[in-house]
Amino acid sequence: MGPLLDPLAQSIVVGASRWRDYPAQQVLAVATAAIAARQGITRCADAECLLCRHAIDGGPVLS
Ligand SMILES: [Zn+2]
Repeated sequence: MGPLLDPLAQSIVVGASRWRDYPAQQVLAVATAAIAARQGITRCADAECLLCRHAIDGGPVLS
């Protein structure tokens, strides 16, 4: 999702570190639209990851 959110970031220096500052409402709108269009966009690099699969499916199924 980084490529979608990167254009919204502003780089600022706080003390001795550089921060990336994002407008929360815009990030929420862009992220919500991206997830609605492609639910797997939040998946991590592990193709077998159960946490991501459960999250995309709406959570673990408890028996
Ligand atoms: Zn994962």
